[in-house]
Amino acid sequence: MKENPESSESTSQSASESWTVRRILDWTTAHLTKHGSDSPRLDAEVLLAFARNCERIRLYTNYEDEVTEAQRTLMRELVQRRAKSEPVAYLVGKREFFGLDFLVDRNVLVPRPDTETLVMELVDEAQKIASPFILDLCTGSGCIAIATAAHYSKASFLATDISPAALAIATKNAETNRVSDKIRFLQSDCFAGIPADTAFDMIVSNPPYIPDAEIELLEADVRQHEPRLALSGGVDGLDFYRRIIQEAPAYLKEAGTLMLEFSPEQEPALKALFEASGKYTDVRVKADLAGRARVIIGRKLPILK
Ligand code: GLN
Repeated sequence: MKENPESSESTSQSASESWTVRRILDWTTAHLTKHGSDSPRLDAEVLLAFARNCERIRLYTNYEDEVTEAQRTLMRELVQRRAKSEPVAYLVGKREFFGLDFLVDRNVLVPRPDTETLVMELVDEAQKIASPFILDLCTGSGCIAIATAAHYSKASFLATDISPAALAIATKNAETNRVSDKIRFLQSDCFAGIPADTAFDMIVSNPPYIPDAEIELLEADVRQHEPRLALSGGVDGLDFYRRIIQEAPAYLKEAGTLMLEFSPEQEPALKALFEASGKYTDVRVKADLAGRARVIIGRKLPILK
């Protein structure tokens, strides 16, 4: 009798035993462990809560409930896809970031906890300005601009991405998080589509930064399912940083701030790019919650007349 989520061979429990929440969670956790998930229990809980259309906590308050046939069918499909390393966020269509819910699909990078460091720093800096106008380049899901707008209502944004599909997701996220009136979205390859006379108080970005040769070495979740466009930073991973650091001053107000997220090992290269441009002062690096260098911030040097 093929009653369990995938096949009946991997359990010694009798096939007649009913498929309770507890049993499905245990079975799924074991199955996803075998298939290489590094958070199998959490994955199982998030997927089953989605299949049952309930909050995760409800799984535990209804631990011995039998799961309906329809829910088991959906769960079986989700678990099969997760076992092929599809990210949980894509399977359930959303991800929590900075205390807010974001819709995600395969057109956008899944928002990472690392990026919360950038948002914290951005909110801090933005609050020093009465009504800051901020540019978010490579906005993807819109998580940076939206989380910042939700926490500092006096900030307004222009958020750009080269991908129209990403902008469609970001626009929806701004709506569901009630900050649509604070953010204008624009399709643009970095600064290419931004009118030359626009001046921002701050420019921020978490651009694609994986060196080409390293993409094939990434874990399967990322490599097989997340958009290449959101990952690929050119031969050395620094293509976007070079462009942004070079071009940002032309779009920054006097003493405006440029703030970029990067991968910890890129710290020396990022510092060198700021230094070599000769266009910034007060350059500093901020570490993430794990103590790794994660965000670089520079202030535009006054233009000497
Ligand atoms: N800015 C978005 C994020 O931080 C997208 C980043 C990207 O696509 N590289 O998640």
